[in-house]
Amino acid sequence: YTMLEVNENDTKELKDLSESFNEMMLDLKKNDEHQQAFIMNASHELKTPITVIDSYSQMLKRFGKTREDILDESIHAISDEAKRMKYLTEQLLSFSKAAQARENFRPERLNIVHMAEEIKSRLEPVYKRNIHLRTLDSEIFVNADPDSLDQLLKIFMDNAYKYSSEDITIDIEKKDEAVMVSITDEGIGIPEEDLDKIFDRFYRVDKARARKTGGSGLGLSIADELAKVNGITLGVKSRVGSGTTFTLEFDGVKEWKDENR
Ligand code: ADP
Repeated sequence: YTMLEVNENDTKELKDLSESFNEMMLDLKKNDEHQQAFIMNASHELKTPITVIDSYSQMLKRFGKTREDILDESIHAISDEAKRMKYLTEQLLSFSKAAQARENFRPERLNIVHMAEEIKSRLEPVYKRNIHLRTLDSEIFVNADPDSLDQLLKIFMDNAYKYSSEDITIDIEKKDEAVMVSITDEGIGIPEEDLDKIFDRFYRVDKARARKTGGSGLGLSIADELAKVNGITLGVKSRVGSGTTFTLEFDGVKEWKDENR
């Protein structure tokens, strides 16, 4: 046998190498666990409507021809649950698209005031509620990918609509170089202990209520992904019973302009 000569430097290098290898493996394991949890949650969410559809079709098979009340009830239930599944699969799709958004990311210099005006006129007739737009300027620029920013704002707007029954307000302001956009509702609010969890996948404050409002618990995790891709910092302030404000903080566009001039 040839004796392997190992000097002090080599051992240190080996030690560093094995440490970084361990770290890498831990990261991979964590990622894998996240994926596993995600698949489990998604399957669970889809299983519930499937189970309901399944039992109503059994009822239809047995009583559908003789009992009109059961026929009616079953058809409604099946149609509701099918809609729910459709919504869930669409949300799952948006989620994976958002996670891949980095690849299709096309940042532009966008006038966020103009974009908010467009969202206001698009959503007011759908929500049948007033959307107030408050800003001091008619032009405030941010650097973002237009499609993903539109999707991101829509998630907060839809939540404001779902969890309140009053008007919704969009504020846009410049703060030094940064731009702050906030979306405020006067709805049910979010309990303080839930605030740091609402961005988690599938997290819902009130599962029973969320099922009625048709929520999936994925909206804000999609928002979180989209914000990361666009370099937007998200924030939330809320008080139970009085309402919620979600904020989007954009880095200053000046830096970007200088770089791209
Ligand atoms: P969901 O599809 O259930 O709305 P989200 O990920 O969009 O899922 O939101 C997660 C949870 O955060 C919601 O179930 C709800 O409990 C809470 N939430 C989000 N936005 C608001 C809001 N504007 N007002 C009150 N609660 C909210």
